[in-house]
Amino acid sequence: SKNAGRNQFHFFTRSMQEQAWHRITMMGELRNALPRKELQLYFQPVVELASGRVAKGEALLRWMHPQKGMLLPSEFIALAEESGLIHEFGNWVFMQASAWSKRWTELTGTLFQVSVNASPVQFMQRKRALHWGRYLSELGLAWNSMSVEITEGVLFNTSSSTAEQLLDMRDAGIQVAIDDFGTGYSSMAYLKRFDVDYLKIDQSFVRGTAPNSTRRTIAETIIVMAHKLGLKVIAEGVETPEQRDWLQHAGCDFGQGYLFSQPVPPEEFEQLLSLHSPA
Ligand code: C2E
Ligand code: CA
Ligand code: CA
Ligand code: CA
Repeated sequence: SKNAGRNQFHFFTRSMQEQAWHRITMMGELRNALPRKELQLYFQPVVELASGRVAKGEALLRWMHPQKGMLLPSEFIALAEESGLIHEFGNWVFMQASAWSKRWTELTGTLFQVSVNASPVQFMQRKRALHWGRYLSELGLAWNSMSVEITEGVLFNTSSSTAEQLLDMRDAGIQVAIDDFGTGYSSMAYLKRFDVDYLKIDQSFVRGTAPNSTRRTIAETIIVMAHKLGLKVIAEGVETPEQRDWLQHAGCDFGQGYLFSQPVPPEEFEQLLSLHSPA
């Protein structure tokens, strides 16, 4: 009724109205971000612990907002998911990252894999809409040039479209990594079923941890288990040489974190690669 509506209005505090207005404004700006070329990819190196070599890179999305400056994913990915813009963004990220993989493979003379993050929402489409495999063959990219990072929840989504899209990616030579591993509902059976290639140990098991802590014991157990299943392990949030040494000793394959580098623009990332120098 009219009265109920009026009463309800009083429950909206001034800050809630401001929040709603802020969301609507951001949504409009986000819609224009791609055509206005405000989205940018940063890259963070993934280091092979045994050699110290930059072996791979992870693409991380940034929004260069004309007034607010550089915005992190935590400030706009949820909005992109709610609005459906994430599909467009995700395809753009994949295509950009593929082009960089191609360039860095040529520059280094060895396959240089780039990974992208995919939101669970991107898999929730009725059609098999992620034509990433076809795109890779058009670009002429080699098998394993790209890897897609998904969270454990995606594997637990029992919808057939999620399973089909994961299998489509595998058939196209795109590798799969489980992101933030250890924070969700882990099932070994799913790792095998979807032929997952990498486990990324969540930062909470690495950064700020003390030697002999429970968190480190869990990380060490994940590494042993992953290797028995034939998966490679990437540790996230490596911030100190002590953490790196512990992980290497525990048999972890790759490390990623501020110790090696923060995420940087592609031009800066290129400086971190060991390039072929003409003889
Ligand atoms: P993530 O995939 O777990 O990415 C790692 C995050 O940890 C990045 O934050 C990175 O900057 C940060 N990080 C890396 N090393 C360290 C370290 O040593 N210490 C600390 N404290 N932090 C570290 P970022 O770039 O803000 O990204 C946050 C999340 O946003 C990502 O978490 C990912 O889930 C999501 N995201 C990023 N790019 C995309 C994208 O293109 N699409 C989608 N759907 N999600 C994305
Ligand atoms: Ca990730
Ligand atoms: Ca695989
Ligand atoms: Ca992560």
